[in-house]
Amino acid sequence: MSNVWRVKFDNWRSLAPRFGTRPAAASPRPGVSPRALLHDALPQLCALCSAPCGRRLLCAACERALPRLGPACPHCALPAIAGDPCPQCLRRPPPWTQALAAFAYAYPLDRLLHAFKYRGALAYAPLFAEALARQVRDRPDAVVAVPLAARRQRERGYNQALEIARPLAHDLGLPLHTALARTRDTQPLAGLSWRLRGASVRGAFVAVAPVRGLSVALVDDVLTTGATLRAATLALLAAGATRVDVWVVARTLPPSS
Ligand SMILES: [Zn+2]
Ligand SMILES: [Zn+2]
Repeated sequence: MSNVWRVKFDNWRSLAPRFGTRPAAASPRPGVSPRALLHDALPQLCALCSAPCGRRLLCAACERALPRLGPACPHCALPAIAGDPCPQCLRRPPPWTQALAAFAYAYPLDRLLHAFKYRGALAYAPLFAEALARQVRDRPDAVVAVPLAARRQRERGYNQALEIARPLAHDLGLPLHTALARTRDTQPLAGLSWRLRGASVRGAFVAVAPVRGLSVALVDDVLTTGATLRAATLALLAAGATRVDVWVVARTLPPSS
């Protein structure tokens, strides 16, 4: 059964009692939900190659082949020899302290992230969160998701950054704070020059919950120019956060990489 059909089947099961079917028999494994039992009984198919992959979304081979980052600059997460700060960050450090990326934004991870962000494939969120959690060394006081512009959130129905931040905070045992809001809708950044991206989102965030004295991990799906994360970081620092780290699923690499 494909993952898509599994979701439909699971949804049907959750609706079944409304249509007068008999209540489910007691679970043969106390404490284990019928849904979990069904999940165990039916092998998942890898979202990338359709090979059986047990309870995972990807088979072990596809998961191993996802584009990882090697040694990277601690500030911008771009490849850097021996993981030292890169010349650009030494010249003009970003407002955050450390940037952490689970993957490089490259095939086939870009396909997964695109489906996650634009086609509602929210089932990938735990996979992204798990990969990111493995990179975390310094634990902050709180996790904060980059909020989406109100209009885009209405259109999409969910905030992809929050969908990642939720299981991530849970995995790490950290509180998830709704600490930021957008002050205005901004136009989509894709297609804008780097300079215009910065101008578009400058001042677009405001802290709406107390972060004074807290170290914060700011979560987003992708780090490209950093314009959005820069504006969000500055809002948290202005509200008194002692340190902001940026955690993203994927880092966009320059064309030369
Ligand atoms: Zn596979
Ligand atoms: Zn750097």
